[in-house]
Amino acid sequence: MNELKNESLCAVAMSEGRNWLPFSANRLVNGRGDHRVVASAKGPYYTMADGRTVFDTLSGLWCTPLGHGHPRIVEALRQQAETLDFAPGFQMTHAPAVTLAARIAKMAPEGLEHVFFANSGSEAVDTALKIAIGFHKLRGDGGRFRLIGRERGYHGVGFGGMSVGGIVSNRKMFATVMMPGVDHLRHPYDHAHVAFSKGQPEWGACLADDLERLVALHDASTIAAVIVEPVQGSTGVLVPPVGYLQKLREICTKHGILLIFDEVITGFGRMGENFASQRFGVTPDMITFAKAVTNGIVPMGGVIVTSEIYKTFMNGPESAIEFAHGYTYSGHPLAAAVAHTVLDIMEEEGINGRVKALESVLEEEVHALRDLKSVKDLRNIGLTAAIELVPAPEKSALRSVQLFEYGLQKGVLLRVTGDIISFGPPFISTPEQIKEMIQKVRKVLLKCE
Ligand code: PLP
Repeated sequence: MNELKNESLCAVAMSEGRNWLPFSANRLVNGRGDHRVVASAKGPYYTMADGRTVFDTLSGLWCTPLGHGHPRIVEALRQQAETLDFAPGFQMTHAPAVTLAARIAKMAPEGLEHVFFANSGSEAVDTALKIAIGFHKLRGDGGRFRLIGRERGYHGVGFGGMSVGGIVSNRKMFATVMMPGVDHLRHPYDHAHVAFSKGQPEWGACLADDLERLVALHDASTIAAVIVEPVQGSTGVLVPPVGYLQKLREICTKHGILLIFDEVITGFGRMGENFASQRFGVTPDMITFAKAVTNGIVPMGGVIVTSEIYKTFMNGPESAIEFAHGYTYSGHPLAAAVAHTVLDIMEEEGINGRVKALESVLEEEVHALRDLKSVKDLRNIGLTAAIELVPAPEKSALRSVQLFEYGLQKGVLLRVTGDIISFGPPFISTPEQIKEMIQKVRKVLLKCE
């Protein structure tokens, strides 16, 4: 077995494409050898197999905000593995999961009181969509089956999440097998009005009226839920204009439509609050979460729902299963124990305050890139930011590869999607590390100009 970890065997397995990589240019990555292989990680840095150290500009995939190899988290994992490594979650439970659910409910906006656990963002989203449809059915309003997502939204890769998602490249291969009855709001980004906004753009609340258009088209009596990311993360940090989310909430309430906030990226501190919902002062009917809740060390996701939703399901004979849905690893003891420690650390270290303090550093540094001629837009909110480059239509894919490669050379692991570089640095970053990150990015961009 150890032989399989051998480095030369790693190179052979790569060249043979044995590991079919997710969301990757497999042949390109496998052809690049050691400098695309991560060997270890500590704090906000990765060490690549070729010995280079690079700054983790996106906290993994938005999921390791407390940095890598945190000793307390590693210890919590070890201890829990010794005590209770697994227990079925069907028809029984265990203390780490129950107490974690209570804790997360307490952190959530008022009214969101019950937690259903899953193992990833995709599972959390599909769970929330099923809850929405079940909720209306149980209330005798089963005509409400439609789900409304948003252009440029990302809600994972399950059939539900993909269908409500609005990313063309994820959808086009599966156009014929999308969930029926799904429609999309227009996205809330309008370059002409909001370019170079710091934080929330002032203009754009009116874009939420697009929901009224869909209500007029389909009739509210057919619509179960609207799902949006409060800040659209994966398609390049699209920040909700002032008043936009409030307006969506109002329209949903007016028409009896459930509002789901997909907080898989924004949950647990990224916006300087427990949830983006609190930052923007808008309470949805459900929140999906994943990623940061376990600092990425083991997978976990979940859905937080209102007591109205929970109570609607808790009906009928006591011995009946109210919601025929769940995963083998829902509320996994290792994930739950780790999540408790992650939340302990976030509380003790005042992470929300720290994020707020770093937000202004990141904002200032990112917007200082405005002088570069390759820059089309810069935006930021919480501890997230994006640089949108002037499109390079013929060589967009090639430029992405170059940016990534130059980033590695300069010591930053960059998340490049098309013409956009997104940032979500770890909460434990120092102001100096954030400044250094952007200085390195400037060098990378200059190399590409
Ligand atoms: N929802 C949002 C908002 C996300 O950003 C992501 C992943 O980035 C997902 C869902 C899917 O999460 P996962 O990759 O854990 O399935």
